[in-house]
Amino acid sequence: MSSTALSNMRWVGRCIKNRFLQGATILIYHRVADLPSDWQLMSVTPQHFGEQLEVLRKNYYPMSLRRLQDALQQRKIPKGAVAITFDDGYADNLHNAKPLLEKYDIPATFYVTYGCLDQKREFWWDDLDRMLLQPSSLPPSLTLTVEGKEMSWRVAEELQAPHGAGKGHHTIQTSMEGSNFTRKELYRALHTILRPMREEARNPLLAQVAQWSGSDGKSRQTHSSLTTAELQALGKGGLVEIGAHTVTHPVLSSLTLSEQRAEILGGKRGLEEKLNRLVLSFAYPYGGQTDYSNQTPDVVRDLGFVNACSNFPGIVRKGVDSFQLPRVSTRNWNGDEFSQRMRTWFPV
Ligand SMILES: [Zn+2]
Repeated sequence: MSSTALSNMRWVGRCIKNRFLQGATILIYHRVADLPSDWQLMSVTPQHFGEQLEVLRKNYYPMSLRRLQDALQQRKIPKGAVAITFDDGYADNLHNAKPLLEKYDIPATFYVTYGCLDQKREFWWDDLDRMLLQPSSLPPSLTLTVEGKEMSWRVAEELQAPHGAGKGHHTIQTSMEGSNFTRKELYRALHTILRPMREEARNPLLAQVAQWSGSDGKSRQTHSSLTTAELQALGKGGLVEIGAHTVTHPVLSSLTLSEQRAEILGGKRGLEEKLNRLVLSFAYPYGGQTDYSNQTPDVVRDLGFVNACSNFPGIVRKGVDSFQLPRVSTRNWNGDEFSQRMRTWFPV
């Protein structure tokens, strides 16, 4: 076989491969803010968000999630198609993200947790961050009764200094398991315990942790969720779609189907009332495949939504389930790093 024939075959092969691989990426963000610390990796600084949007505007085809869905249905996904989404409903979505989206004329869908509107308190995972990762020192031991079982953790005395205070490795030891825990590991352990709980079970435990850590219970301005007025301002104009994200941000799979229905519908109706328009897009809280049940996507569809986003990585291609759209997590990358990541996510 001649080398020309071989290269022609390769070219045809590439075309066939590209044709089948042509797809879009849905990006997931939570926050655009300059935070003193962001161990949870939920925030992109305004500087870096602007750089990321510049990359998207220059080299890709940013489009709204709804337009992307139409393109999918018509099997005409533009090359380099990207949709931006934000989860949870932080106030910085309005104050920091929206002006940059407007500057670059890039649309986005914001999934708002209805029950967090107008709340003076932080999201529970931020409460935990404030209590465990921010204090200058922690008491020697923590004991909690979790579902009738007593659990305790001991903080090694010489290592009770704050995270980032220059001591390097801070150890917290759990007397139950006998292994050493850093502050971050204690955060992780408590996060795992608190995550699947209903609010009524989680709140008393959080109150105990707050008391133990000496946290003053004051919410940080930097961690505010949206007010109703801010939600309405966020939804104004043609670039932003507001989507639903339940009422209390539960792990849906830990609820009965009728409880799931109430959470999903309550979030939708509540937002619709505030916005005076239909809310047709949904994102599963946490969004991993085990965070909702097999039947949840059908519940979402039956309640009148037109799509739903999950939170596992993948490329959106022809034949994708519109009620389990994969998304790719973003981090606080500068424009160059973001550009490199984008190249790895796009297969063509
Ligand atoms: Zn969420």
